[in-house]
Amino acid sequence: AGDGGGDQQHGSTTTVTHFLLVPMMAQGHIIPMTDLARLLAEHGAQVSLVTTPVNAARMAGFVAAIEEASLPVQLLKLPFPAAEYGLPDGCENMDMVQSKDLFKNFIEACGALREPLAAWLRQQRPPPSCVISDVMHWWTGDIARELGIPRLTFNGFCTFASLARYIMYRDNILEKATDEEEVITFPGFPTPLELPKAKCPGSLCVPGLEQIRDKIYEEEMRSDGKVMNSFQELETLYIESMERMIGKKVWTVGPMCLCHKDRNTMAARGNKASMDEAQCLQWLDSKKPGSVIFVSFGSLVSTEPQQLVELGMGLEASKRPFIWVIKAGNKSPEVEEWLAEGFEECVIDRGMIIRGWAPQMLILWHQAIGGFMTHCGWNSTIEGICAGVPMVTWPHFAEQFLNEKLVVDLLKTGVEVGVKGVTQWASEQKDVMVTRNAVLTAVSTLMNDGEAAEEMRMRAKDFGMKARRALEEGGSSYNNIRLLIQEMGHKQNASS
Ligand code: UDP
Repeated sequence: AGDGGGDQQHGSTTTVTHFLLVPMMAQGHIIPMTDLARLLAEHGAQVSLVTTPVNAARMAGFVAAIEEASLPVQLLKLPFPAAEYGLPDGCENMDMVQSKDLFKNFIEACGALREPLAAWLRQQRPPPSCVISDVMHWWTGDIARELGIPRLTFNGFCTFASLARYIMYRDNILEKATDEEEVITFPGFPTPLELPKAKCPGSLCVPGLEQIRDKIYEEEMRSDGKVMNSFQELETLYIESMERMIGKKVWTVGPMCLCHKDRNTMAARGNKASMDEAQCLQWLDSKKPGSVIFVSFGSLVSTEPQQLVELGMGLEASKRPFIWVIKAGNKSPEVEEWLAEGFEECVIDRGMIIRGWAPQMLILWHQAIGGFMTHCGWNSTIEGICAGVPMVTWPHFAEQFLNEKLVVDLLKTGVEVGVKGVTQWASEQKDVMVTRNAVLTAVSTLMNDGEAAEEMRMRAKDFGMKARRALEEGGSSYNNIRLLIQEMGHKQNASS
């Protein structure tokens, strides 16, 4: 990748393969889709990426980078009907949805993009060659069928978690289990997998969303395949199993974050950083290689003040350098007071606190980083894998507990902090779920000089190298991207 070309035929008889990408309006879904847009365009395809005004404004860095590289990617901005669906004005991204009760409204408002998108598509001559849309936008299935365009789904998960989720829905496992402690098994899963019900992905179990969940599942089964932000060598067994079970092609074209080759485009990922990136890198430069633990819980997790304080105390007790990202939404007078009353002073030489959006990729890629305490969102997890750093796993919700299993039990590149159940919305949190001692133990286990920790580091480095190889010329994901572009291009030419 990166040559701006690829082996696409641009002759007069063949049209350039054109992908329409429709991400879920959440940073954990938009970011990989912008990376995918870049990858596809670098391999010679044309890309249209659906967004809304508020999200488009956040993408200014992405747009500038795309323009600088002269890549054929255009944003298709559709108005988002927040107010019509009882959402605050401008609430166009999942990270702006403040409560569980509004989740359904948000999903329904996303569904209202259907008509404007269909109208745009009907005007395109020729129409795009392929739609890659988030599973949550199940309604894109109808539009794609109407226009005879293949639809591939994207869910932002790894294949390991996608397969477990598929089996769960197919067999209606969660409804059958009555007790939260009940251990769930996954019939047909290629390796032994057990998880208590309390840790199973269930964000769509919010009341009122059952119908939408069924639609998502139904449309996924009618789609023409899946696109995964993963790579063959990471989860071969699960990819093969998934293809066999659903009878569709699983296109592993990642890790998508590796489309970034330089600091500027890495820094432009997602939102604008809330601090000076150069200063952050300078701070990291002053630390020993592999000595710093990076703590960040993605774009959606909200943490109760007592839990934040407890986490901070654990980091302090570890005596190791750290960068700790406290999301803007988690700012509270209680935490600010605690930070100001001595914590920041106490860790002044070895702790950096970022309040707001951190340039995560830039930080993870720095040689001073030796560990990543993560909520196991798939993007963060695969970014950690690419960076070759071992992880402390602290899952909160959705499929994050499955990603923890993958990292800790299968890849063996991480240690659990010891979370017992889901905490998605602040209102569900029961005081302190993870104690400072648990934080201290996990960080020490990960970052010490012992043999077990060293082995974890070696394994993490090895996966990092494999990840890079997958996207290099001739690598598995590199080849898949080219095949995908060719196949969708051929389909279009055959039907026109
Ligand atoms: N991210 C970031 N800075 C932040 C928080 C998040 O760059 O301060 C990025 C992170 O690198 C990842 C994405 O946002 O690409 C979060 O996705 P993930 O799947 O890890 O978690 P989610 O936010 O969906 O829970």
